[in-house]
Amino acid sequence: MTKIVIIGGVAGGASAAARARRVSETAEIIMLERGEFVSFANCGLPYHISGEIESRDALLLQTPESFKSRFNVDVRVLNEVITIDRQAKQLTVRNLATNETYQESYDKLLLSPGASPIKPPLPGIDSHFVHSLRNIPDMDKVLSTLMLHKPKHATVVGGGFIGLEMVEALRHVGLKVSLLELADQVMGS
Ligand SMILES: Cc1cc2nc3c(=O)[nH]c(=O)nc-3n(C[C@H](O)[C@H](O)[C@H](O)COP(=O)(O)OP(=O)(O)OC[C@H]3O[C@@H](n4cnc5c(N)ncnc54)[C@H](O)[C@@H]3O)c2cc1C
Repeated sequence: MTKIVIIGGVAGGASAAARARRVSETAEIIMLERGEFVSFANCGLPYHISGEIESRDALLLQTPESFKSRFNVDVRVLNEVITIDRQAKQLTVRNLATNETYQESYDKLLLSPGASPIKPPLPGIDSHFVHSLRNIPDMDKVLSTLMLHKPKHATVVGGGFIGLEMVEALRHVGLKVSLLELADQVMGS
């Protein structure tokens, strides 16, 4: 029986896990995700901030339990892969809930670790009032700042798709918004 291990459990990892199951009914499939959530709708994050998607749960497309029952995939959240030994086909994984590490073998390894927002090394970038938006915890932090501090103005840095969606979302909830973009036009590429 082939053992397939997938690192990362959002769009790429989750789609690969579902596809792997369709290709093989018998493979053992394990999906390791260091965050708390798998297969969530990143695209909806700005729209929950704006209130247009009312329910936070609507963003959570699958859970480890639903993955198990629907695709027979062993999904382990809060499990971070910290080393890959390609010779031995062996991973070291840290369970972030218990801080314990363990070894996991694989026949096939699929990397889908995604990306993270660029945070330029500017003074003040680590302030509580500076946010990025990539995942559910990021979104929760933005919402918490809006609720607790009731800001009147926000500045969005970056005029790509997500920046513009955030401009709209923040206008929707009544803030004045400035958008800063390095290039000479928004949505440049
Ligand atoms: C706000 C927002 C709006 C978007 N809107 C759209 C849209 O409208 N249309 C569209 O097509 N796309 C949109 N996107 C882009 C789309 O969401 C991304 O292309 C997609 O999430 C990429 O999926 P991924 O699985 O490659 O990476 P990610 O979503 O980054 O997932 C990778 C996962 O791997 C995990 N990981 C990384 N390293 C390890 C490790 N060592 N061990 C265990 N786990 C690890 C990370 O914790 C992460 O959860 C949007 C993105 C955002 C943030």
